[in-house]
Amino acid sequence: MTDLSDLPISEHLRGKTPYGAPQLRVPVELNVNENTHPVPQQVVDDIVQRVRAALGSVNRYPDREFSELRSAFAEYLGHGLTPAQIWAANGSNEVLQHVLQAFGGPGRTALGFTPTYSMYPLLADGTGTRWIAAPRDDHYQLSAERAVAAIDQHDPDIVFLCSPNNPTGTLLDIDVIRAVAERTRGIVIVDEAYQEFAPDGSVSALTLLAEFPRLVVSRTMSKAFAFAGARVGYLAADPAVTDALRLVRLPYHLSALTQAAALGALAHSSEMLAMVDDIRAQRDRLLRELAVLGYAPAQSAANFVLFGGVAEPNATFRALLERGVLIRDVGIPHTLRVTAGTEAETSTFLNALAEVATPLAV
Ligand code: PMP
Repeated sequence: MTDLSDLPISEHLRGKTPYGAPQLRVPVELNVNENTHPVPQQVVDDIVQRVRAALGSVNRYPDREFSELRSAFAEYLGHGLTPAQIWAANGSNEVLQHVLQAFGGPGRTALGFTPTYSMYPLLADGTGTRWIAAPRDDHYQLSAERAVAAIDQHDPDIVFLCSPNNPTGTLLDIDVIRAVAERTRGIVIVDEAYQEFAPDGSVSALTLLAEFPRLVVSRTMSKAFAFAGARVGYLAADPAVTDALRLVRLPYHLSALTQAAALGALAHSSEMLAMVDDIRAQRDRLLRELAVLGYAPAQSAANFVLFGGVAEPNATFRALLERGVLIRDVGIPHTLRVTAGTEAETSTFLNALAEVATPLAV
């Protein structure tokens, strides 16, 4: 047996820790922002049929261009998008990795507004891209002025905008996204992993694609679509951007089984998304009831809530776990993050929290 530090690991990876949300099987799992409602049985049945059919030719490599899937995503997203503007991979993490491989790299920088999704710096590290963390305004908001000032200061090659933002839930105004796209010399990625949970009438960055050929909008089937285990993420951008991603993807990166399963889920998108309204209602309930309990929840447009006023996050996290409720300590002092689950799961969490801790006096 040897130790990691004994190995000739790349310099830029020395001392780093991997992504590591605890994977524990407990009755109420509200820690990684999944949709906690299972896929409806009739949709499962249709997906099984499609996967069975795909297995009939699994001796051959899959469609490297995943053409049918790109058409299905273009149709799902709307906004006049064409299949040539769509890219997909095994989760939006891989989609983002492709973007960094193509547009980042040694000597280049990627900038994000923290706190934000913890994988961005890891993906930057993995591609030799230097990560720059720029601050937000109060209450995790981000104004156009602050965003543009950071871009002027750092002149990044890639800018990450996450909206709604993980872990804070903050929705970005479309004018902020526009200001960033206008000011950035390089690529702007808007990560809309949680967009389906945003309030009705929220404007997606997809509406800006026609104006900004260096804008990339990424999405995932892992959240609202209840398909996290299938690993399917995608993006929309100018066709030249998707051409750049073809240079870095591994050949046949999307398996025939993944493509078949994703097509099955997309064919039933209204059933797959049927629980989104319920989840939004539970999120709004969390915002209300956490405040009543004396905590300070951050305004959220996603399927989770970050709440401040926690005296000892680690102790509260562990006490909840003892009661079979898994949430997330994202490392922000005096805060914890919880995913909006079913009504019953949300009740279990709120009742357990009321029992195990009292909030800081705020
Ligand atoms: N972006 C954000 C903001 C996320 O929170 C996540 C998952 N937690 C992802 C991307 C990646 O999700 P996936 O790879 O499952 O698509």
